[in-house]
Amino acid sequence: AGESYDVVVIGTGGAGLSAAIAAYDKGLTNVVLLEKMGVNGGNTNYSSSGMNASETKFQKEQGIEDSNDLFAQETLDGGHNTGDPELVKFMCDNSAGAIDWLDGLGVTLDNITLTGGMSVKRCHRPTDGSAVGLTLVPGLVAAVEERNIPIKMNCEAKELVKDGDAVTGVKVKFEGKETVLGAKAVILATGGLGSNPDMVVQYRPDLKGYVTTNQPGATGDGYTMAESVGAELVQMDQIQIHPTVEQESSTLIAEGVRGGGAILVNSEGKRFFDEMSTRDKVSAAELEQPGGFAWCTFDQQVYDANKAIAKYDKSGLVQKGASVAELAAAIDVDPATLQATIDAYNAITTSGATDEFGRTEGCIAFADGNMYAIKVAPGIHHEMGGVKINEKNEALDASGNSIPGLYAAGEVTGGIHGNNRIGGNAVCDITVFGKNVGEAVAEALA
Ligand code: ADP
Repeated sequence: AGESYDVVVIGTGGAGLSAAIAAYDKGLTNVVLLEKMGVNGGNTNYSSSGMNASETKFQKEQGIEDSNDLFAQETLDGGHNTGDPELVKFMCDNSAGAIDWLDGLGVTLDNITLTGGMSVKRCHRPTDGSAVGLTLVPGLVAAVEERNIPIKMNCEAKELVKDGDAVTGVKVKFEGKETVLGAKAVILATGGLGSNPDMVVQYRPDLKGYVTTNQPGATGDGYTMAESVGAELVQMDQIQIHPTVEQESSTLIAEGVRGGGAILVNSEGKRFFDEMSTRDKVSAAELEQPGGFAWCTFDQQVYDANKAIAKYDKSGLVQKGASVAELAAAIDVDPATLQATIDAYNAITTSGATDEFGRTEGCIAFADGNMYAIKVAPGIHHEMGGVKINEKNEALDASGNSIPGLYAAGEVTGGIHGNNRIGGNAVCDITVFGKNVGEAVAEALA
């Protein structure tokens, strides 16, 4: 017989890493992680906004009043009531516990901000306000290493192996050979499909030709594997596009830039929408502008408050000027129009007047001096559909029965967020359900 494990976890993004750690800590020490790429972390590495969570100790310490019910309500509202109320409630109710769990693993997310679609500061970032993925992934990898949980890198899961109805192993391609790893349970944590243009177009013909923010390994393998053993895929046409993607480099411009005060102006130098609205609406509004793009425009305060901007700048993505007029010249918009746009925006931040576009969040006046802009348009971001699961992260078939031995967590699962996911909810999802699936498998095998 070949290698055999209690649990094989496919994918080393936030969901897979969390699952392996949680399973191990509940006594399942014979666990292995598989990663088809040469790096760990998947799209979780790129996660820039933060982790949404409610009733956390950090919110309490900072005097932020929030509730799990409000978090759940805003998540369902953000998804236009097409999400799964029970899984959303489960996610929100367990979010503070996940923040504590991460803190215990050395991943402290105590710098709290707003992203689009929330009325209360709920998006938890690392202490220095930097992108969450670059703290979360190394922190979880360190915890995996501390436990001596093996990670097979450059090991691609190709197929699930079944014995009767039950999933009993995974066929992998590793070091040039195909072998079968035996498993009492398999956890799919393979992430999304954004780097598989054919699969994107299969579910969404209208997204042909869009750039993607996804890493090259996000090719939808988990959906194919799950489907081949009878798992149900739900809401697969719900592929989220993100409104602020720099198109040449496919760089996602973090939502916190807008949360910190930035505005979106079109090629005429005019604002056109509530920048803090949900991703689907902002993207749609952008596509209606001349040329289908916008300039994400901000001042020095925003530049200094958001660590990611210096990186965008180093990569040459940021246009700039020492004044509004200079920036206008750099981005080829009419200076008087841009100045009028900024004056009007400043007025709503100071006088309490209402914004004609309805913006109420993150309204912070522009100061004089240096001005910046990044050209953005929508890009493929996140598959919100996927494998249907229950509260034990069991993969379900079309009749709602669990498929013995098969579990799923993270972006590969579907139907939780409905047709629009709030920024910061993916990290909550992968952490809550990643931890949960590890514990559920440990309980099932105990
Ligand atoms: P999540 O946010 O749900 O954790 P990520 O995108 O962060 O998802 O991580 C998913 C990981 O799974 C990526 O590192 C990706 O390369 C890996 N992966 C995807 N398909 C396979 C496969 N067939 N075999 C092994 N690893 C895979």
